[in-house]
Amino acid sequence: MKKDLELFTRIANLLLEHEEESPVVAPIPPNELYEQLDLELDTAPASEAFFEKTLKALVLNTPRTATRLFFNQLFGGRNSKATLGDLLAVLLNNSMYTYKVAGPQVGIEKEILKQVCRQIGYGKDSNGTFAPGGSMSNFMALLMARDAYNSNIKTEGVSGKLTLYTSTESHYSVPKNAAFAGIGRDQVRYIETNEKGQMKVSLLAQTIEKDIAAGYTPFFVNATAGTTVLGAFDAIEPIAEVCKKHKLWLHIDGAYCGSVIFSESYKHLVSGLHLSDSFSFNAHKMLGTPLTCSIIVTQQKKHLYDSFSNDAAYLYQTDGDEFNLGKTSIQCGRRNDALKLWTLWKSVGTTGLEGIVDQQFELADVARDYIRNHPDYTLYSFDESISVCFNYKDVPAQALCTALYENGALMVGFGTFRNTEFIRLVTINAGNSEDEILAFFNVLETFVEKHPTFKQPEIFQQ
Ligand SMILES: *Cc1c(COP(=O)(O)O)cnc(C)c1O
Repeated sequence: MKKDLELFTRIANLLLEHEEESPVVAPIPPNELYEQLDLELDTAPASEAFFEKTLKALVLNTPRTATRLFFNQLFGGRNSKATLGDLLAVLLNNSMYTYKVAGPQVGIEKEILKQVCRQIGYGKDSNGTFAPGGSMSNFMALLMARDAYNSNIKTEGVSGKLTLYTSTESHYSVPKNAAFAGIGRDQVRYIETNEKGQMKVSLLAQTIEKDIAAGYTPFFVNATAGTTVLGAFDAIEPIAEVCKKHKLWLHIDGAYCGSVIFSESYKHLVSGLHLSDSFSFNAHKMLGTPLTCSIIVTQQKKHLYDSFSNDAAYLYQTDGDEFNLGKTSIQCGRRNDALKLWTLWKSVGTTGLEGIVDQQFELADVARDYIRNHPDYTLYSFDESISVCFNYKDVPAQALCTALYENGALMVGFGTFRNTEFIRLVTINAGNSEDEILAFFNVLETFVEKHPTFKQPEIFQQ
């Protein structure tokens, strides 16, 4: 093991040097992948030297998500304390289902969940768990809501006409999960949004009432804290009122921007969160931990046990339910996703988490200011969002993003809202400063200048 740790350090150092020099790696076209890299698995073992060489080539040709020019997704950067925690989790290799096998790591997870519940104003009966991602957190919320509505569904299956509600801007996991849960994609009602991408609450109320009159059974509303394209926040308080009136489960999908709970300046974006039944957020998005680190909490922990606990004499052999976390998780064997957040949180404190969140909003302000001050740009997004959506000159967004990627210049994606396509700059890497945001625009402008033919997007489309 020691030898391989030395190899790890050599490769890690090499990668860090390359990331500094070339923040974007030119992609290998998929049809050349197996020619350019030796990915083949052979009958015979590889020599040490060849193994190292091959591994280095693989690492150096992998997309660099931690660098200053990666803006492509809702994650990015590399927090060293969180990375340290995750490396240790791999080394320790516990499974989080029992205290017997995970020991104090259970305490780590419980402490995070307790702090999160306290932070959002959930009461003493609240608790939560770590899910394998935001989509699965949303799935767990839906299952708890379904079983809370009718616990017989667990044994008999779904028979009634259950309906659920979410905005047109919400994440695609909502309809997927409706299918998984046996409720059906057709039972998802998509509520239109206002011009800022927030769910129209009056329309939500009307749709629910119409459904009830037509013999459907509404049971679940999903509100989003940070929509995937615009980064918009649904207004929780009025939505909670509608849910209360009709006794519907309210879940807040904060996968993208739920971490605003740590910021005094931005937690007003989720005001009313304490009125929800469940809330989830991805620490691997705004807080910058390595993937995956997704937390779901609920007001009444009994719902976690109702939906996810299963007796298993071969597994639960010591200690009580409180410390055997397998009783509330969707998986059986479960990797330790808590330690990376704990090492980060422990090292920087809650005020440090606040700083991480605030920095992202400040960077978004820098980007919006730049766009507003430069007439070649059109801005589509609003203040208090870390998704900065824009177009440059008359260059089509999709073609530009693809060309930037294919040329190894910049990693950024595009999105659509109300039939307008635009570039989506996500300022989620809190390790960046103003300079990196300005460099982003500089790279983009220089690229367009150097590729005058580029304005005919056909040549880039396949
Ligand atoms: C990213 C995201 C998800 C999905 O989270 P995964 O961890 O990728 O499964 C769900 N909802 C929203 C709003 C998101 O931005």
